[in-house]
Amino acid sequence: MALAFAHSQGQALQLQAALYVVATPIGNLADITLRALQVLEAVDELLAEDTRCTRRLLEHFGLARTVTSCHEHNEEARVGQVLTWLRHGKSVGLVSDAGTPLISDPGYPLVRAVREAGFPVAAVPGPSATIAALSIAGMPCNEFLFAGFLPARAAARRARLKTLLAEPRLLVLYEAGRRVPELLADITARAGATRQVVLLRELTKMHEEVAAATAGALLARAESGELELRGEFVVLVAAAAEAGDLAEALRIRDLLQEEMSPSRAAKLAARITGVDRRSLYGGATGGK
Ligand code: SAM
Repeated sequence: MALAFAHSQGQALQLQAALYVVATPIGNLADITLRALQVLEAVDELLAEDTRCTRRLLEHFGLARTVTSCHEHNEEARVGQVLTWLRHGKSVGLVSDAGTPLISDPGYPLVRAVREAGFPVAAVPGPSATIAALSIAGMPCNEFLFAGFLPARAAARRARLKTLLAEPRLLVLYEAGRRVPELLADITARAGATRQVVLLRELTKMHEEVAAATAGALLARAESGELELRGEFVVLVAAAAEAGDLAEALRIRDLLQEEMSPSRAAKLAARITGVDRRSLYGGATGGK
Protein backbone atom coordinates (compact mmCIF):
# COMPACT_ATOMS: atom_id res chain seq x y z
CA MET A 1 0.00 0.00 0.00
CA ALA A 2 1.54 3.30 -1.11
CA LEU A 3 1.99 5.90 1.63
CA ALA A 4 2.02 8.97 -0.60
CA PHE A 5 -0.48 11.51 0.66
CA ALA A 6 -3.02 13.43 -1.38
CA HIS A 7 -2.98 17.16 -0.92
CA SER A 8 -5.03 18.59 -3.70
CA GLN A 9 -7.10 21.70 -4.40
CA GLY A 10 -7.10 22.96 -0.85
CA GLN A 11 -8.54 19.75 0.56
CA ALA A 12 -7.14 18.45 3.82
CA LEU A 13 -4.41 15.88 3.56
CA GLN A 14 -5.85 12.37 3.29
CA LEU A 15 -3.85 9.94 5.36
CA GLN A 16 -4.11 6.19 5.54
CA ALA A 17 -4.46 3.91 8.52
CA ALA A 18 -0.75 4.06 9.29
CA LEU A 19 1.61 5.22 11.99
CA TYR A 20 3.45 8.41 10.95
CA VAL A 21 6.70 8.94 12.86
CA VAL A 22 7.28 12.68 12.71
CA ALA A 23 10.55 14.51 13.46
CA THR A 24 10.28 17.93 15.10
CA PRO A 25 12.85 20.74 15.63
CA ILE A 26 15.74 20.36 18.10
CA GLY A 27 15.74 24.07 18.88
CA ASN A 28 15.00 26.34 15.97
CA LEU A 29 11.29 26.00 15.23
CA ALA A 30 11.82 27.07 11.63
CA ASP A 31 13.42 23.67 11.07
CA ILE A 32 10.03 21.95 11.03
CA THR A 33 9.31 20.46 7.62
CA LEU A 34 6.27 21.29 5.51
CA ARG A 35 5.29 17.65 5.50
CA ALA A 36 5.58 17.44 9.28
CA LEU A 37 3.13 20.33 9.61
CA GLN A 38 0.73 18.75 7.14
CA VAL A 39 0.83 15.41 8.90
CA LEU A 40 0.57 16.90 12.41
CA GLU A 41 -2.57 18.69 11.29
CA ALA A 42 -4.12 15.81 9.41
CA VAL A 43 -3.55 12.71 11.53
CA ASP A 44 -6.67 11.47 13.32
CA GLU A 45 -4.71 10.80 16.52
CA LEU A 46 -1.43 12.30 17.67
CA LEU A 47 0.81 10.67 20.27
CA ALA A 48 3.40 12.82 22.02
CA GLU A 49 6.13 12.15 24.57
CA ASP A 50 5.15 15.28 26.53
CA THR A 51 1.74 16.65 25.58
CA ARG A 52 2.46 20.14 26.98
CA CYS A 53 5.67 20.42 24.99
CA THR A 54 3.95 19.30 21.78
CA ARG A 55 0.96 21.58 22.36
CA ARG A 56 3.38 24.52 22.55
CA LEU A 57 4.87 23.48 19.22
CA LEU A 58 1.43 23.07 17.65
CA GLU A 59 0.25 26.43 19.01
CA HIS A 60 3.32 28.12 17.53
CA PHE A 61 2.17 26.92 14.11
CA GLY A 62 -1.49 27.71 14.75
CA LEU A 63 -2.54 24.07 15.00
CA ALA A 64 -5.21 23.25 17.57
CA ARG A 65 -5.78 19.55 18.06
CA THR A 66 -5.97 16.80 20.64
CA VAL A 67 -2.76 15.12 21.74
CA THR A 68 -2.41 11.84 23.64
CA SER A 69 0.60 11.06 25.81
CA CYS A 70 2.98 8.25 24.82
CA HIS A 71 6.14 8.12 26.89
CA GLU A 72 8.53 5.49 28.19
CA HIS A 73 6.22 4.66 31.13
CA ASN A 74 3.02 4.05 29.15
CA GLU A 75 4.09 3.20 25.60
CA GLU A 76 3.62 -0.55 26.02
CA ALA A 77 0.09 0.12 27.30
CA ARG A 78 -0.63 2.47 24.37
CA VAL A 79 0.01 -0.26 21.80
CA GLY A 80 -3.46 -1.82 22.12
CA GLN A 81 -5.17 1.52 21.75
CA VAL A 82 -3.14 2.43 18.67
CA LEU A 83 -3.90 -0.91 17.02
CA THR A 84 -7.61 -0.35 17.68
CA TRP A 85 -7.39 3.11 16.07
CA LEU A 86 -5.59 1.64 13.05
CA ARG A 87 -8.19 -1.16 12.70
CA HIS A 88 -10.86 1.53 12.62
CA GLY A 89 -9.04 3.13 9.68
CA LYS A 90 -7.52 6.00 11.64
CA SER A 91 -4.13 7.55 10.95
CA VAL A 92 -1.83 8.04 13.94
CA GLY A 93 1.14 10.38 14.39
CA LEU A 94 4.02 9.97 16.83
CA VAL A 95 6.31 12.79 17.97
CA SER A 96 8.87 13.14 20.74
CA ASP A 97 9.85 16.34 22.59
CA ALA A 98 12.50 17.22 20.01
CA GLY A 99 14.18 15.64 17.01
CA THR A 100 13.45 12.22 15.62
CA PRO A 101 11.36 9.81 17.71
CA LEU A 102 13.06 6.54 18.73
CA ILE A 103 16.55 8.13 18.58
CA SER A 104 17.22 8.07 22.35
CA ASP A 105 13.46 8.65 22.60
CA PRO A 106 10.36 6.50 23.14
CA GLY A 107 8.54 4.71 20.32
CA TYR A 108 10.36 1.48 19.55
CA PRO A 109 7.78 -0.94 21.07
CA LEU A 110 4.97 0.90 19.31
CA VAL A 111 6.63 0.94 15.89
CA ARG A 112 7.49 -2.73 16.17
CA ALA A 113 3.96 -3.68 17.24
CA VAL A 114 2.33 -1.66 14.45
CA ARG A 115 4.62 -3.26 11.85
CA GLU A 116 4.00 -6.73 13.23
CA ALA A 117 0.24 -6.12 13.08
CA GLY A 118 0.62 -5.47 9.37
CA PHE A 119 -0.01 -1.71 9.31
CA PRO A 120 2.35 0.67 7.51
CA VAL A 121 4.78 2.84 9.46
CA ALA A 122 5.79 5.97 7.56
CA ALA A 123 8.78 8.20 8.30
CA VAL A 124 8.27 11.95 8.22
CA PRO A 125 11.98 12.76 8.59
CA GLY A 126 13.54 15.95 9.83
CA PRO A 127 15.93 17.19 12.51
CA SER A 128 18.06 14.99 14.72
CA ALA A 129 20.83 16.25 17.00
CA THR A 130 23.14 13.46 15.80
CA ILE A 131 22.96 14.36 12.13
CA ALA A 132 23.12 18.10 12.85
CA ALA A 133 26.27 17.54 14.93
CA LEU A 134 27.97 15.29 12.40
CA SER A 135 27.23 17.73 9.59
CA ILE A 136 29.21 20.57 11.20
CA ALA A 137 31.86 18.89 13.38
CA GLY A 138 34.43 18.46 10.66
CA MET A 139 35.15 14.85 11.61
CA PRO A 140 35.22 11.98 9.10
CA CYS A 141 31.75 10.51 9.50
CA ASN A 142 31.02 8.08 6.70
CA GLU A 143 30.97 5.55 9.50
CA PHE A 144 29.99 6.31 13.08
CA LEU A 145 28.77 4.60 16.21
CA PHE A 146 25.74 6.17 17.86
CA ALA A 147 25.62 5.30 21.55
CA GLY A 148 23.24 7.99 22.83
CA PHE A 149 23.19 8.45 26.59
CA LEU A 150 25.70 6.52 28.68
CA PRO A 151 24.50 5.03 31.98
CA ALA A 152 24.18 7.64 34.73
CA ARG A 153 26.04 5.62 37.37
CA ALA A 154 29.80 6.06 37.25
CA ALA A 155 30.83 2.40 37.28
CA ALA A 156 28.36 1.38 34.56
CA ARG A 157 29.28 4.44 32.49
CA ARG A 158 32.99 3.69 32.65
CA ALA A 159 32.45 0.05 31.73
CA ARG A 160 30.38 1.07 28.70
CA LEU A 161 32.94 3.71 27.68
CA LYS A 162 35.73 1.16 27.88
CA THR A 163 34.03 -0.91 25.17
CA LEU A 164 32.97 2.07 23.06
CA LEU A 165 36.36 3.79 23.07
CA ALA A 166 38.04 0.71 21.68
CA GLU A 167 35.81 0.89 18.57
CA PRO A 168 37.47 2.04 15.34
CA ARG A 169 34.53 4.37 14.64
CA LEU A 170 33.61 7.95 15.43
CA LEU A 171 31.53 7.81 18.60
CA VAL A 172 28.35 9.89 19.04
CA LEU A 173 27.10 10.51 22.58
CA TYR A 174 24.27 12.57 24.05
CA GLU A 175 24.88 14.32 27.35
CA ALA A 176 23.49 17.04 29.58
CA GLY A 177 25.91 19.94 30.06
CA ARG A 178 26.39 19.52 33.81
CA ARG A 179 27.73 16.00 33.24
CA VAL A 180 30.13 16.86 30.43
CA PRO A 181 33.19 17.42 32.73
CA GLU A 182 32.77 13.93 34.22
CA LEU A 183 32.44 12.47 30.75
CA LEU A 184 35.60 14.26 29.59
CA ALA A 185 37.44 12.97 32.65
CA ASP A 186 36.32 9.42 31.88
CA ILE A 187 37.35 9.73 28.21
CA THR A 188 40.75 11.11 29.25
CA ALA A 189 41.28 8.31 31.76
CA ARG A 190 40.24 5.61 29.30
CA ALA A 191 41.54 6.82 25.95
CA GLY A 192 44.28 9.22 26.97
CA ALA A 193 44.35 13.02 27.06
CA THR A 194 45.11 13.27 23.34
CA ARG A 195 41.92 11.71 21.95
CA GLN A 196 40.13 14.31 19.80
CA VAL A 197 36.67 15.36 21.02
CA VAL A 198 34.09 17.77 19.60
CA LEU A 199 31.46 19.26 21.91
CA LEU A 200 28.36 20.62 20.14
CA ARG A 201 26.14 22.66 22.40
CA GLU A 202 22.60 24.00 21.84
CA LEU A 203 22.52 23.13 18.14
CA THR A 204 20.27 25.36 16.01
CA LYS A 205 19.59 27.59 19.06
CA MET A 206 20.72 31.12 19.85
CA HIS A 207 23.77 29.94 21.82
CA GLU A 208 24.92 27.20 19.47
CA GLU A 209 28.59 26.51 20.11
CA VAL A 210 31.19 24.04 18.88
CA ALA A 211 34.40 23.28 20.78
CA ALA A 212 36.91 20.91 19.19
CA ALA A 213 40.14 19.91 20.96
CA THR A 214 41.76 17.01 22.72
CA ALA A 215 39.87 15.42 25.63
CA GLY A 216 42.55 16.69 28.02
CA ALA A 217 42.39 20.27 26.77
CA LEU A 218 38.58 20.34 26.92
CA LEU A 219 38.65 18.86 30.41
CA ALA A 220 41.04 21.59 31.55
CA ARG A 221 38.73 24.23 30.03
CA ALA A 222 35.69 22.68 31.69
CA GLU A 223 37.42 22.56 35.07
CA SER A 224 38.62 26.14 34.82
CA GLY A 225 35.09 27.33 34.09
CA GLU A 226 36.10 28.53 30.63
CA LEU A 227 33.72 26.14 28.88
CA GLU A 228 30.02 27.03 28.89
CA LEU A 229 28.23 23.94 30.20
CA ARG A 230 24.62 25.07 30.14
CA GLY A 231 22.24 23.32 27.76
CA GLU A 232 22.20 20.19 25.65
CA PHE A 233 25.27 18.56 24.15
CA VAL A 234 26.25 16.13 21.47
CA VAL A 235 29.73 14.76 22.20
CA LEU A 236 31.75 13.31 19.34
CA VAL A 237 34.83 11.25 20.18
CA ALA A 238 37.33 10.51 17.43
CA ALA A 239 37.60 6.94 16.24
CA ALA A 240 40.01 4.66 18.01
CA ALA A 241 42.24 4.60 14.91
CA GLU A 242 44.50 6.61 17.16
CA ALA A 243 43.96 3.94 19.78
CA GLY A 244 45.29 1.46 17.22
CA ASP A 245 48.43 3.58 16.96
CA LEU A 246 48.48 3.72 20.72
CA ALA A 247 48.27 -0.06 20.98
CA GLU A 248 51.27 -0.34 18.66
CA ALA A 249 53.15 2.29 20.67
CA LEU A 250 52.39 0.42 23.89
CA ARG A 251 53.66 -2.81 22.32
CA ILE A 252 56.93 -1.08 21.33
CA ARG A 253 57.20 0.53 24.77
CA ASP A 254 56.81 -2.85 26.48
CA LEU A 255 59.55 -4.36 24.28
CA LEU A 256 61.87 -1.44 24.99
CA GLN A 257 61.18 -1.73 28.70
CA GLU A 258 62.96 -5.07 28.67
CA GLU A 259 66.18 -3.18 27.88
CA MET A 260 65.74 0.19 29.63
CA SER A 261 63.88 2.17 32.26
CA PRO A 262 60.09 2.59 31.87
CA SER A 263 60.32 6.36 31.39
CA ARG A 264 63.06 6.09 28.76
CA ALA A 265 61.10 3.32 27.00
CA ALA A 266 57.99 5.52 26.96
CA LYS A 267 59.98 8.47 25.57
CA LEU A 268 61.55 6.39 22.83
CA ALA A 269 58.29 4.64 21.90
CA ALA A 270 56.69 8.06 21.57
CA ARG A 271 59.47 9.23 19.24
CA ILE A 272 59.24 6.08 17.12
CA THR A 273 55.43 6.11 16.74
CA GLY A 274 54.53 9.78 17.05
CA VAL A 275 52.04 8.96 19.83
CA ASP A 276 51.86 11.51 22.65
CA ARG A 277 54.43 10.55 25.30
CA ARG A 278 51.98 11.15 28.17
CA SER A 279 49.78 8.32 26.87
CA LEU A 280 52.64 5.88 27.30
CA TYR A 281 53.51 6.53 30.91
CA GLY A 282 52.28 4.31 33.72
CA GLY A 283 48.84 2.72 33.46
CA ALA A 284 47.56 4.71 30.48
CA THR A 285 46.99 1.67 28.32
CA GLY A 286 44.68 3.13 25.69
CA GLY A 287 41.38 1.71 26.88
CA LYS A 288 42.64 -1.73 27.83
N1 SAM B 1 15.43 12.31 19.44
C1 SAM B 1 16.39 13.37 19.59
C2 SAM B 1 17.23 13.47 18.32
O1 SAM B 1 16.76 13.03 17.27
O2 SAM B 1 18.33 14.00 18.35
C3 SAM B 1 17.24 13.17 20.81
C4 SAM B 1 16.44 13.10 22.07
S1 SAM B 1 17.40 12.87 23.51
C5 SAM B 1 16.16 12.59 24.71
C6 SAM B 1 17.89 14.50 23.94
C7 SAM B 1 19.40 14.68 23.82
O3 SAM B 1 19.74 14.97 22.47
C8 SAM B 1 19.91 15.86 24.61
O4 SAM B 1 20.18 15.52 25.96
C9 SAM B 1 21.19 16.21 23.88
O5 SAM B 1 22.23 15.33 24.22
C10 SAM B 1 20.77 15.92 22.43
N2 SAM B 1 20.21 17.15 21.84
C11 SAM B 1 18.93 17.40 21.56
N3 SAM B 1 18.81 18.64 21.06
C12 SAM B 1 20.03 19.18 21.03
C13 SAM B 1 20.57 20.42 20.62
N4 SAM B 1 19.78 21.38 20.14
N5 SAM B 1 21.89 20.62 20.72
C14 SAM B 1 22.71 19.66 21.21
N6 SAM B 1 22.26 18.46 21.61
C15 SAM B 1 20.94 18.22 21.52
